[in-house]
Amino acid sequence: MVLTRKHSNLAELIVASAAVILLCPLLFSGCGGSTEAKESVQSRANLDALLKKGIRPNELGMVMVLEYHRVKPTEGDFQRSIDNFKKDLQTLYQKNYRLISFNDLMTGNIGVPAGTTPIVFSFDDSTESQFRYIPQGSGTTIDPECALGMMQAFQKQHNDFGCTALFNVLPAMFEQEKYKDQKLTYLVKNGYDIGNHTESHGNLAKLSDDKVQADIANQQKNIVSIDPKTSVSVLCLPYGEEPQNKALMFNGSSAGTSYHYDWSLLVGSNPFYPMYHYKNPGQIIPRVQVMDYNSISGSGADGSGYWLRYFDRHPELRFVSDGNSKTVCAPAYMQTRVLENKLPKGVQFLGY
Ligand SMILES: [Zn+2]
Repeated sequence: MVLTRKHSNLAELIVASAAVILLCPLLFSGCGGSTEAKESVQSRANLDALLKKGIRPNELGMVMVLEYHRVKPTEGDFQRSIDNFKKDLQTLYQKNYRLISFNDLMTGNIGVPAGTTPIVFSFDDSTESQFRYIPQGSGTTIDPECALGMMQAFQKQHNDFGCTALFNVLPAMFEQEKYKDQKLTYLVKNGYDIGNHTESHGNLAKLSDDKVQADIANQQKNIVSIDPKTSVSVLCLPYGEEPQNKALMFNGSSAGTSYHYDWSLLVGSNPFYPMYHYKNPGQIIPRVQVMDYNSISGSGADGSGYWLRYFDRHPELRFVSDGNSKTVCAPAYMQTRVLENKLPKGVQFLGY
């Protein structure tokens, strides 16, 4: 084809524009571009190695926030026996679940090893059975038979299990009045999450807007007056009951104390998809009560025993990590389920 001068100029312009368009990402990203390229080659190589080992990551699978109340010598309503709590740790470990913090799960900062599933422990009502100090010499030691003591002992034997939890506290804060401040400070300093379980443990659905805000704000004040560094991002709803004015679960104020929370926790009763999945639960997060399942009587049908068995039978629905916090890795056909704007910064989908 013979080009006139005009056409030739146009062709040059097109070629030049194309070159600029192609070069732009390189010019603007500088070294970052090649680092990203290297990381993505590395991520792909990691994934190929996992697939060869028979590990099929699915970071669009479901996760669970488990819910404990008292941990005492006998099993009962809202009460796990000490023996069963120890068994829970062992069972979860053997089934390749690994503890992470509530905040890490919700922000997509999931750093558990390849082939394992993140899981969160939450403890409601801040009873002594969860965190007990025993006087020792001039100081104190954590009772090895309280929930925290048992978790820490298990972690010593299995240091890849993790040792973290969300404690949803009432004003009594673990019931040993003289150690109240020491306990909260210990938890915050050691990376445990603290949730607000309100001042009165009342049913928020039956309270006026003013009383809902007072119940939440007063407990917020109790928590930060002990340790101002405490960051509270979650409201744990007593009985799982939401106030009539739902916005008050997340923002409000009373008597000069204001609060803001990102999440609100229900009492039951199912796993959920991660926050970057299009079926994420939003800000109101379901949990799974820890209880055994009896397949004949049907008791415990919403509890952890049931759901653990469910995931044993449906492994394709369970979140399985690729061990790489830079990627959300899953079968390629699942890519359309990802909400790009909810992925943590710098994290990419990696399909196979
Ligand atoms: Zn409660």
